Amino acid sequence: MSEIKLSLQYTYLKALPEGCIEWQPDTIDSPELVYLNRPLAKQLALELETAEDNTLALFFAGNNLPETTKPFAQAYTGHQFGHLAPMLGDGRAVVLGEWLDNDKQRWDLALKGSGRTPFSRGGDGKAALGPMLREVLLSEALYHLGIPTTRSLGVVATHEQVQRQHPLPGAILTRVAASHIRIGTFEYFSARNDITSLTALADYTLKRHYPDLAQQPPPYLAMLEAVMDKQAALVASWINHGFIHGVMNTDNTTLSGETIDYGPCAFMEQYKPGAVFSSIDQHGRYAYANQPKIMHWNLARFAETLLPLLDGEDEKKVEVLTETINRFADMYRRYLLQGQRQKLGLFYSEDNNDTELTERWLDLLHQNKVDFTLAWRYLSDVLRGNTEPLIKLFDDQDGLNSWLKDWQQRLQNDQPDGGEFTSAQRAAKMNTINPFVIARNHMVEAALTAASDENDYSLFNDLLSALQQPFEENTQTRPFATPAPEDFTERYQTFCGT
Ligand code: AMP
Ligand code: MG
Ligand code: MG
Repeated sequence: MSEIKLSLQYTYLKALPEGCIEWQPDTIDSPELVYLNRPLAKQLALELETAEDNTLALFFAGNNLPETTKPFAQAYTGHQFGHLAPMLGDGRAVVLGEWLDNDKQRWDLALKGSGRTPFSRGGDGKAALGPMLREVLLSEALYHLGIPTTRSLGVVATHEQVQRQHPLPGAILTRVAASHIRIGTFEYFSARNDITSLTALADYTLKRHYPDLAQQPPPYLAMLEAVMDKQAALVASWINHGFIHGVMNTDNTTLSGETIDYGPCAFMEQYKPGAVFSSIDQHGRYAYANQPKIMHWNLARFAETLLPLLDGEDEKKVEVLTETINRFADMYRRYLLQGQRQKLGLFYSEDNNDTELTERWLDLLHQNKVDFTLAWRYLSDVLRGNTEPLIKLFDDQDGLNSWLKDWQQRLQNDQPDGGEFTSAQRAAKMNTINPFVIARNHMVEAALTAASDENDYSLFNDLLSALQQPFEENTQTRPFATPAPEDFTERYQTFCGT
């Protein structure tokens, strides 16, 4: 097949003409397909299986697109590190269009690194290969942990150089997202006082992401609550897996509740609430433990944009929005505790002391500088009578033993109605909750260096296969389960916009 025949749709472009600029990706002379997410292509029924690599490379470079394709760049703004940026938008991305899968689910297909757009400001519109492969690894890692996320469908190397601190090989990533509507998209129309577009955006978002709420008066308030709920669940799952997003600006917060923007993110290894890796986050605004608070703040910015869409007097509307937003902390805590109970192996009961039990455990991890992922994982071994892997992680073994005693006592009261859950069953279930493998920074960096500098994809492929089965302990996953040396983690930095 020498041409990809995808028939893409343009409901967003039609609904929000003021928020889009039709724009063609740059022409790339010799793109090379270096990654194709075949399971995702299959899941979306994209029918790319029979295409030759060269055809796929041209498609994923944004060249040789079907004639009906009308790529466009999206306008948005947003609060970056707490300050409103007057204008952002897709500075190095275009949406190719929307794809309907066999379940009639709508997906945006978008290119990142496809050249300058009217929103590029000083940027070159390009992306480097290492960071695009990093997005593949990290987004697949989240997906297979069960965390809502945008995904990576393909990467082409452009064989052009992009100028960063050093010249780097260029690349284009194809992202699949439930949509690219961000809090920053609402802020864009709100800042311009374009109430017609703002209303169109709110109605479009309701229809696309929350169709059940569209009929419910007042739908915009119901949508706010639904987005809060999705984001509360999302941040709780980041926290419970030790994920640090790194750049939680409002333009990187989706209305769909998917994780987006894999620039400076990283998994935490040693448990440290203040963990930060992003080179530009000097004050730790987006530190691991700050994420729920920041999401609350971001959602308040979203709520403000809805003010002109609600009926009634301003004072009353502000009161209602404030009261709604203030419920975020409780929503988040519920999701957090629900996830923590499962991580502790508590599947059948709730006890008022569960929060305290979890907090004591986390304090022990913190004080003993313990690897977050392995500590949770090795709890199941304790239930199988093997305490050694866990004990070895701790200096304060008395503290650990005393906690283990309380935990095991609590487990005794956690039984299904009319049946018995054996320790072996509980341990097995815990191992479907607490992963064995996460995307460890030293492994990610080694894989990217080999791929990007030496064109050797073996480590990248091996790491990717491990991340696609994070709950399995086997010969494929074992090499990637070892924590980074402490001095690596201390020096490790991540970057935006590379
Ligand atoms: P981010 O920090 O990735 O959320 O990006 C913030 C803004 O910078 C967005 O509007 C991006 O489109 C834009 N941007 C990032 N990198 C580039 C680049 N190389 N060229 C043009 N725009 C960029
Ligand atoms: Mg972004
Ligand atoms: Mg980014």
